[in-house]
Amino acid sequence: MKEYDVIIVGAGPAGLRCAEILGQSDKKVLLLEKKTETGPKVCAGGITPKSLRLMDIPQYLFETEIRQASLVGPHSNTFSNHTKEPFLWIINRKTFGKWQQEKLEGTQVEVMNSALVTNIEKGYVEVNKSTKYGYQYLVGADGASSKVRRFLGLPVKKQLITYQYLIPTEGISNSLEIHVDNRYFRSGYAWIFPHKSYLTVGCLADPRHVSPQKLKTRFHSWLNKKGFDISHATYQSFPISYDYRGYRFGNILLAGEAAGLASGLTGEGIYEALASGEEAARLILDPGHVDKKMQVLLHYKKKQDNFLQLLHSAGPLRQTIFNLFIYLMNNKRFNRKATEGFS
Ligand SMILES: Cc1cc2nc3c(=O)[nH]c(=O)nc-3n(C[C@H](O)[C@H](O)[C@H](O)COP(=O)(O)OP(=O)(O)OC[C@H]3O[C@@H](n4cnc5c(N)ncnc54)[C@H](O)[C@@H]3O)c2cc1C
Repeated sequence: MKEYDVIIVGAGPAGLRCAEILGQSDKKVLLLEKKTETGPKVCAGGITPKSLRLMDIPQYLFETEIRQASLVGPHSNTFSNHTKEPFLWIINRKTFGKWQQEKLEGTQVEVMNSALVTNIEKGYVEVNKSTKYGYQYLVGADGASSKVRRFLGLPVKKQLITYQYLIPTEGISNSLEIHVDNRYFRSGYAWIFPHKSYLTVGCLADPRHVSPQKLKTRFHSWLNKKGFDISHATYQSFPISYDYRGYRFGNILLAGEAAGLASGLTGEGIYEALASGEEAARLILDPGHVDKKMQVLLHYKKKQDNFLQLLHSAGPLRQTIFNLFIYLMNNKRFNRKATEGFS
């Protein structure tokens, strides 16, 4: 059996960032990815400023720079933000993954694609039901349905269901829209994000509050009401896990959605994956490392979870909360407080 200091399961943003940091040391690292190609993932591709502060992401990876955003309420009441400087960037997950992987060239990190982890035991993992690889440390960066998380016996009770269409368009826009409406999405929302040659138009909600079938039906009536033509669009659906229950378990660490670190309120998970992947690596390199980025991330996640809980329990009052929120967003102080956790 081949032995490694660290085995990372999953080459999403969390696993790749973890590998990048470990690649700066002399640790022998194996990064296992079940897909044939690193990068592609169902995602709207929105990157907030905190990701840019964490990593020097080159400009060419941005498909669009967002300078205008509208938060649209149940009665088309709207809060709009228009700025000179961009405040959100849209990436293509395939090119972003490729760029992250290129950073591993010339390091001690071995990347293995088409490598599905089929079994995990104390001290080794089994790939494609055939080959065993030994580890000192194991990092579960294998996303919303993490096998490493299951091995640790941690359930996933808080998930979001998502549906999205990639609708071909001509001309690049730098404006995005978020739509909240209790009648369609309960505590969730719908989004319109502009990419280079298409729009991602999607929605998300917690299946404990609206069944997947109902959400799908309502999403289609909303698309119809908004006049979207989906006849040439690509349809996608994927869960988002936000059930955080810790990330350090002895010599096993979880990162990104495997740790349930995405936001239950917005579905944002790229920054959370990058930051936690980095922290997992730093803890492996130095067990005394103070994980400041995780602490800040968890602080804002808790705030978002509390607001989400309020929305979940508000019943028909949810519509009023959305209206009030949109109204208050025009207040500078409230706006700054409300957006600081996202940016
Ligand atoms: C519709 C939708 C829209 C979204 N939009 C945004 C957005 O605009 N902005 C944002 O920040 N976030 C968004 N997200 C969330 C974001 O995509 C995720 O939170 C993020 O990709 C999590 O990164 P990760 O590295 O933890 O996991 P992933 O990106 O899911 O990567 C996990 C990797 O592990 C691999 N893997 C899984 N199991 C195994 C196994 N057994 N063996 C080997 N490999 C395995 C997978 O193939 C995958 O490559 C969106 C999600 C969805 C579903």
